[in-house]
Amino acid sequence: MNNGLHFRPTRAEISMTALQHNAEVARREAGDCKLLGVIKADGYGHGAIAVARAINGAVDAYAVAFIDEALQLREAGFTQPIVLLEGCFSEAELPVCAHYNLQPVVHHQGQIDAIAGARLVKPLAVWLKTDTGMHRLGFAPAAVEAASRELASLKQVASVTLMTHFANADRVDHDLNTLQQERFAELCASTSPTAAISSANTAALISSAIDLGTDANQWCRTGILLYGVNPTTTAQTEQLQAAMRLTAPVMALREVAPGEAVGYGSRWRAERASRIATLAIGYADGYPRHAPDGTPVWLNGQQVPLAGTVSMDMITVDVTGLNEVAIGDEAELWGPNLPVTTVADAVGSISYELLCRVSPRVPRHYK
Ligand SMILES: *Cc1c(COP(=O)(O)O)cnc(C)c1O
Repeated sequence: MNNGLHFRPTRAEISMTALQHNAEVARREAGDCKLLGVIKADGYGHGAIAVARAINGAVDAYAVAFIDEALQLREAGFTQPIVLLEGCFSEAELPVCAHYNLQPVVHHQGQIDAIAGARLVKPLAVWLKTDTGMHRLGFAPAAVEAASRELASLKQVASVTLMTHFANADRVDHDLNTLQQERFAELCASTSPTAAISSANTAALISSAIDLGTDANQWCRTGILLYGVNPTTTAQTEQLQAAMRLTAPVMALREVAPGEAVGYGSRWRAERASRIATLAIGYADGYPRHAPDGTPVWLNGQQVPLAGTVSMDMITVDVTGLNEVAIGDEAELWGPNLPVTTVADAVGSISYELLCRVSPRVPRHYK
């Protein structure tokens, strides 16, 4: 949280009520399923501890990528189970997991061997990752039954939740969705059909292409929805609220004559007498350096186009079309007035990347 003294007006405002609202939407979307609030990468850039606090009442547990992220939450006093989505990288982590009730994903045989050889104060709840077609992490289908049986036989293991991850859940018409669901259903049936399972990320949760049923055994792993983003173009949800509003002030204004260029590389050139506003945010703050001319910025009630290459600490926008603009006016780079997905589309990225790359030098202000 931001307790220090910050003069810098450039900031990321984080709305606790938006986070709460979105978590309640996720809760309703999940129906009878259980909900894992995914708050890795410092809560997708929003601040993991603040997010954990805001969504506490709506989720059943948290998920992060690796153990250090989980320990930060334990230090802040959170006692809910925390799933480690990348699992453990060394056996030294296992006693720490047991002590702090951290639940590692197990995705290769070496991790099972390490658990079998560990001395633990309490047995671990583990999540057995199966590779049903994404081919990034997890046991191949043919190896899942043996892995599941071996884990279940270990005194160091309290429970095994079977999990998988969809590669195309955001694409309603993608063939792999059906194939991955079929493979996962077979694996669930051939291991222990009544045990807990987990397949859905946000897109799978809200997509009509993926059927989670109303299975109380299913754990939905929802991240991006919490932050106010629908990662699909087709699935409908209740209205979401942008949890982050990234702002920067106008710090300079100038008139630029036709033919003059603006910024590094003189990429943008004035075709008419133009007014250029310089904003105090750049790629060192996480604003994407590859943003092309025309990328929208929200200023004084309308969208204005980026004009010129993004610098480390500043960007320039063409405000010729604005009636009123003054030094100190606050621009919104993304937020309630300018969806982060709109900016992501303009720069060839995704909302996830823009949100989680807002750098530590941008103070977070919690509302
Ligand atoms: C990050 C992550 C999620 C969350 O995905 P969203 O699209 O943000 O809901 C779910 N599952 C796994 C394995 C992840 O790594």
